[in-house]
Amino acid sequence: MTVGPGSCPRCREALIERFLQEATLLACGFCGGVWLDTRACQVVMQGASRDLVELAERAERQAKVATDTAAPALCPVCARTLLMGEVPGTATEIHSCAAHGTWFDPNGLRRVAFAFADAVEPEPPVTSFGEWIQRPPLTRRSKG
Ligand SMILES: [Zn+2]
Ligand SMILES: [Zn+2]
Repeated sequence: MTVGPGSCPRCREALIERFLQEATLLACGFCGGVWLDTRACQVVMQGASRDLVELAERAERQAKVATDTAAPALCPVCARTLLMGEVPGTATEIHSCAAHGTWFDPNGLRRVAFAFADAVEPEPPVTSFGEWIQRPPLTRRSKG
């Protein structure tokens, strides 16, 4: 049995798969949120997220329901409860699975991507959004 993309962490609708090179984005056409796999998250953190944001905006335009962002979200791969937290400096809450990726509610990916396009490379480097949400705010070169 293979573990494949499952259902939306929010509304349990089937997710639509989109591939960008090795990165995978799963979009929900019902609530308009998107799931980014680990590779796609790295693309966002490297600031090269334009195509992913475009896909996310397409999903947002199709949204049929408003998202209840207080509801628990489950990983679409392993079905564990996702770790929730704010990406420092973005006022955006995300839901992350250490093993599989990160969920963004509508507008979330755009705000996070924008912040990362601008940010200084952190020290030490951060490799996942699960780490980011347990971190102090993005730094602007002067530390301490
Ligand atoms: Zn959904
Ligand atoms: Zn998972």
